[in-house]
Amino acid sequence: AAVALGRSAIAALESIRATVEEHEQALGDLDAIAGDGDHGIGMRRGIEGAVAAARESDGESVQTVLTRAGEAWSEKAGGTSGALWGTAVITVGLTLGNRESYDAQDAARAVQAFADSITGLGKAELGDKTMVDALLPFAETFAAQIAGGDPVSSFDAAARAATTAAEATAELRPRKGRARPLAEKSVGHADPGAISFGLITTALAESFRP
Ligand code: ADP
Ligand code: MG
Ligand code: MG
Repeated sequence: AAVALGRSAIAALESIRATVEEHEQALGDLDAIAGDGDHGIGMRRGIEGAVAAARESDGESVQTVLTRAGEAWSEKAGGTSGALWGTAVITVGLTLGNRESYDAQDAARAVQAFADSITGLGKAELGDKTMVDALLPFAETFAAQIAGGDPVSSFDAAARAATTAAEATAELRPRKGRARPLAEKSVGHADPGAISFGLITTALAESFRP
């Protein structure tokens, strides 16, 4: 069972890679409006490194697969979002640990640990126009839905909340990160990190569906 969960983690990372590659150009274009244009390439380098490291850990526990993947993600991506994603993936691995089986409460703990890791490291708040504007609605929706005991449908609902919230960041003015000096240009366009978060959680929701 422990090895099977490690393999599920590799499959989940591969689904992230597919959506990041598909949207690499669009994410870069969005980041170029008020940032430095590297969000697509950074996310692609990060997830490619993460998938490669995860595959090298095939046969290991979910904790080992995710901690190695997260380390590689931070290292290969560079940039703010790479550091945040890499650290958060490591945190999920450490939270899940090295057990034979997991239940809905473990899923809830993993999602909360992911969210706490990003807000703890980046210190962004709701409305700052960052990925946190998609992350917090995601985590809240998951926490509310998981009481019903179904991680797959909870994740699906949370991903839809993240996508809606990511699109709504278009109205905001950035207060954190590289986009701040070009704040006016950003109004009317969604935050790239929030959009990639919505895309990634949507791809994961699809990959978790039986
Ligand atoms: P960089 O800004 O270093 O070029 P990216 O372009 O890859 O890195 O990522 C930019 C995204 O990172 C932003 O769109 C935003 O969502 C996210 N971001 C920036 N600063 C923070 C922060 N302090 N907390 C959370 N997310 C942040
Ligand atoms: Mg950038
Ligand atoms: Mg950059």
